[in-house]
Amino acid sequence: MLDLIIKNARNIHEETVEIGVQAGKIATVAKEITEPALQELHLSENEYISAGWIDDHVHCYEKMQLYYDYPDEIGVTQGVTTVIDAGTTGAENIGDFAELAKCTKTNVFALLNISKWGIVEQDELADLSKVQADLINEALENYPEFIVGIKARMSKTVIGDNGLTPLQMAKKIQKDHAPLPLMVHIGSAPPELDEIFSLLDQGDVVTHCFNGKANGIYDWQTGKIKAFAWETFKRGIIFDIGHGTDSFNFTVAKEAFQEGLKATSISTDIYIRNRKKGPVFNLATTMEKLRVVGYSWPEILEKVTVAPAKNFNLNSKGAIKEGLDADFTIFKFVEAEKELIDSNGNQEIASEQIVPVKTVIGGQVYDNELSKV
Ligand SMILES: [Zn+2]
Repeated sequence: MLDLIIKNARNIHEETVEIGVQAGKIATVAKEITEPALQELHLSENEYISAGWIDDHVHCYEKMQLYYDYPDEIGVTQGVTTVIDAGTTGAENIGDFAELAKCTKTNVFALLNISKWGIVEQDELADLSKVQADLINEALENYPEFIVGIKARMSKTVIGDNGLTPLQMAKKIQKDHAPLPLMVHIGSAPPELDEIFSLLDQGDVVTHCFNGKANGIYDWQTGKIKAFAWETFKRGIIFDIGHGTDSFNFTVAKEAFQEGLKATSISTDIYIRNRKKGPVFNLATTMEKLRVVGYSWPEILEKVTVAPAKNFNLNSKGAIKEGLDADFTIFKFVEAEKELIDSNGNQEIASEQIVPVKTVIGGQVYDNELSKV
């Protein structure tokens, strides 16, 4: 007896299967499943299914003041089955976060901020005594499942006078614990972006890749993507959207797309303020922005499933395959105009919306709030 069968499960490539779930895992994927199940879910003709959406840059440790949110508000209720908190906490407070995260419906993972209290203040890397290798080692040892990488925020307001030193420290920590994903936030100089990029290796993740800042990948004089950014992308450095309040610009994303440079993964950098007041709102809206830029829906879905699972070694997630976690997002497309605003106030109109209808996490089915709007 299976726990759940999902019938008429049509993916974005218009292939329809049946999916059997047992004990939170995908037990069978077949044209037809004859085995009985405790629960059946029939997708309607206008619904699609994908592996559960993964948002690899969020802030959801609710006890923080600056950037915080509640995992289920940005996760299960928005069609997102898994979130990765990007460095809200450091070695001193990640244990508390890990405890809280056990009580959520949404799968929560974290990147450990190399600064020991995380983002308690905007300038967490201005005082390098907060980066302590022994505390970091201990945290990585204590929470091997919860911590999926480390985070260093490398922009002017964060690092004070420390230049590239925090990034060099992060790279050393990463090498001592290899393989350990590293996410680097980019923003205003110093440090200069080309200097940051020169320290990165294949597989390192650059978030806020399409920000509209002078120290970004786009040259506002020539209207082209900077040569060193192209060189970095070609070396296999991962470009992650990390939309955020300040860090997604349509002009940059469009020029990159036209030149053939596409973000590797799509994420929100969501927290309570940019969720409620925008410009982020949720992952679906961020996906719609990339659709307007020119990405196809299959590409977009790959960048919120397969790509983040691979980049952060979430080996049981990211695809609909036997043996993997039974995490799915069920969604539909609605043909209706929607105003989309980037971080710099530029507006685009989407003609097609992607609307999560149900979220399935570990085989549990949740109705999506958005579908009621
Ligand atoms: Zn962030």
